[in-house]
Amino acid sequence: MDMKLTGKTVLITGGSRGIGYACAMAFAAEGCTVHIASRSRESLESAREKIRARHNVPVEIHAADFSKGDTVRNVVEAVGHADILVNNAGITRDGLLMRMSDADWDSVLNTNLKGAFSFTKAFTRAFLKQRSGRIINISSVIGLMGNAGQANYAASKAGLIGFTKSIARELGSRGITVNAIAPGFIETDMTAELGEEAKAALLKQIPLGCLGNTDDIAAAALYLASPGARYVTGQVLTVDGGMVM
Ligand code: NAP
Repeated sequence: MDMKLTGKTVLITGGSRGIGYACAMAFAAEGCTVHIASRSRESLESAREKIRARHNVPVEIHAADFSKGDTVRNVVEAVGHADILVNNAGITRDGLLMRMSDADWDSVLNTNLKGAFSFTKAFTRAFLKQRSGRIINISSVIGLMGNAGQANYAASKAGLIGFTKSIARELGSRGITVNAIAPGFIETDMTAELGEEAKAALLKQIPLGCLGNTDDIAAAALYLASPGARYVTGQVLTVDGGMVM
């Protein structure tokens, strides 16, 4: 389907692997100029090669650690103009609260929530001037329902939802939409460590009876970026096989 995104420029944080990479491939297929950013230059280069092999669009890479100070500003300056921002980079550092270190709390909050804040703030001035812009924050069903052993991750993802709704209210009058996607359990590096038993227990909670794949999330991101979603803002689109309803 033509999503009418040809010629748009998108920045996808954490675009080297998993959900971010699937989003990058999907936006490239729609004829967008694609910027992907994450820590590992090697993964970024490999992702760029794979995207270029399939789609004839410009693909730029930016290696930086978003949990650290000025790196976000440097990436935003290097990107220059963008129409769509996908705040996708995220990590987990799981553990029960009693054993959770300050470092594990800080690294998850800094990457998942502060990273999104910093990128969004850095692009807002340009989006306001353009009187357009699409911001898509990748949250999680864990931010909606909580999960034992993931207090830091759940707080970051619930925080992202509150952030999404607040910014949607601030920027709506200027033609900028801000939405979140809450993926359920999607097969990526992040969920690869789940044991067979844990996977079987999870499947019992999913009405559609299977884990999701990265293209399921990319399809939702394309929709929220497309002109068809021009009247949708401040929403959380749950893509989870019906797990949370
Ligand atoms: P993934 O395969 O582990 O990929 C994470 C991406 O983020 C990688 O590109 C990684 O690259 C980048 N990244 C991590 N920390 C970074 C940092 N400090 N600075 C810059 N880049 C960083 O994860 P995924 O499963 O695709 O998840 C993507 C997003 O979806 C995350 O926000 C995650 O919380 C959310 N999500 C995933 C699931 C799921 O089931 N997979 C479910 C709900 C929500 P480098 O390591 O090279 O930096």
